Amino acid sequence: MINIVIFGPPGAGKGTQSERLKDKFGLVHISTGDVFRGLDPTSELAKLAKSYSEKGNLVPDEITISILESEVAKHPNARGVIYDGFPRTTTQAEALDSFLSKKNSAITMALALEVEEDELRVRLKNRALDSGRPDDADPSIIQNRIDVYNAQTAPVAAFYKAQGKYVGVNGIGNKEDIYNRLVEAIEKKA
Ligand code: ADP
Repeated sequence: MINIVIFGPPGAGKGTQSERLKDKFGLVHISTGDVFRGLDPTSELAKLAKSYSEKGNLVPDEITISILESEVAKHPNARGVIYDGFPRTTTQAEALDSFLSKKNSAITMALALEVEEDELRVRLKNRALDSGRPDDADPSIIQNRIDVYNAQTAPVAAFYKAQGKYVGVNGIGNKEDIYNRLVEAIEKKA
């Protein structure tokens, strides 16, 4: 199995690039952000998740990990998975490793889209114009998401570096060039 974590700050382009990479390599794309937004909005779980995400905070690990595991279970015959927006904490990264090892599988690589903060702020503000997402609309919520990323998610890079699985890719430039860089990085490692 090819299991790729696509890693990077909010607005780095993880979702956009994952959609193309999944087609190219025949993988399933699982975005925890999309899963949360796709829940029945009247359900308790959706309301709970929204109470965190609308402020730009992380949904608690326990909930997120169980959501992720049930999403993976929906694709028993997958050739592999692109994990987008997960893991976002070291606890989630550890949970993913033990979940995969129970299936005699493992993460192949963590592909990190590297984009600096000023560029992220511009991209998220632009995305707000058409995404309709409340967490994109407000500069203070955008800033909180960047702060949460730096405090809670950036340490996940060290987790994968320690395993020799971290591959950084320049996330600045046009989408096509970035896509080609990612394809090259995957072909080298997978
Ligand atoms: P972004 O564009 O910020 O990368 P996502 O669509 O990946 O956004 O996620 C939107 C929101 O969903 C996050 O701000 C967070 O509240 C919640 N979320 C998504 N994935 C996770 C996760 N792995 N752990 C905790 N919360 C998550």
